Amino acid sequence: MVLAQLGGSISRALQQMSNATIIDEKVLNECLNEITRALLQADVQFKLVRDMQTNIKKIVNLDDLAAGHNKRKIIQQAIFNELCKMLDPGKPSFIPKKGKTSVVMFVGLQGSGKTTTCTKYAYYHQKKGWKPALVCADTFRAGAFDQLKQNATKAKIPFYGSYMESDPVKIAVEGVERFKKENCDLIIVDTSGRHKQEVALFEEMRQVSEATKPDLVLFVMDSSIGQAAFDQAQAFKQSVAVGAVIVTKMDGHAKGGGALSAVAATKSPVIFIGTGEHMDEFEVFDVKPFVSRLLG
Ligand code: GDP
Repeated sequence: MVLAQLGGSISRALQQMSNATIIDEKVLNECLNEITRALLQADVQFKLVRDMQTNIKKIVNLDDLAAGHNKRKIIQQAIFNELCKMLDPGKPSFIPKKGKTSVVMFVGLQGSGKTTTCTKYAYYHQKKGWKPALVCADTFRAGAFDQLKQNATKAKIPFYGSYMESDPVKIAVEGVERFKKENCDLIIVDTSGRHKQEVALFEEMRQVSEATKPDLVLFVMDSSIGQAAFDQAQAFKQSVAVGAVIVTKMDGHAKGGGALSAVAATKSPVIFIGTGEHMDEFEVFDVKPFVSRLLG
């Protein structure tokens, strides 16, 4: 039972509230403030937490709480539902079809886990009988092509890149063309990142996207970036049509609250999470366990 996993300060806050003899607005507010603190610590953006508080106050009826013995359950359920709702942008992302060529472009800052995630995504589909291919359009980071080549070779996935060419747009176009001719059904384009959000990076993303016309742009986000998630996701969304999000490093300490920000900023769903450095440490995103972890 997912709700039973609610833990830490949130369950303490709910416990305190249900111990109170009278549940009035003050007690409910104290409880919600405690929950707010826990969610902020889990990297959920302040504005989103505040919106959630407002919604919960609208949903939770104080009279019901006073009369009922399951106050905790009512509030738990309301919080849980609100967070699930925040992770649902209301429309599904583009879903590639096996046997029909799709181009998927990966974007994200350097170190987010983009290159690793490209291979994981390719490998995941390859295991299901797809014919994926990897294109390294990252000409910025020294060693990027070698890393992709190494990963791709290990997974026996065809790859394309260049040690000489410095124009990422040219490589991306050549790679996509080649793999279209080879009838690959999932052509994955890995792009450059930078340490921070720079104008040059976004211009490059725009150009690569314009030249390769991807069916899907995937934004890769490190779960440990904390409150920076919203601005980062928004900056990418403003330059390319981000259609889905992958949150990496969920095996670490971060609770992943930044994912809510990424969904809000890009209006796109999270579709996978990265749970380790290995190729198969990759899972389809599932809202309920994710929210449980956030609250735990
Ligand atoms: P890029 O610069 O965005 O292409 O990032 P890389 O793919 O090179 O990844 C940066 C580092 O993060 C590498 O050491 C990866 O092994 C590591 N990494 C990527 N995804 C995950 C993950 O889900 N969990 C863990 N623990 N490490 C990851």
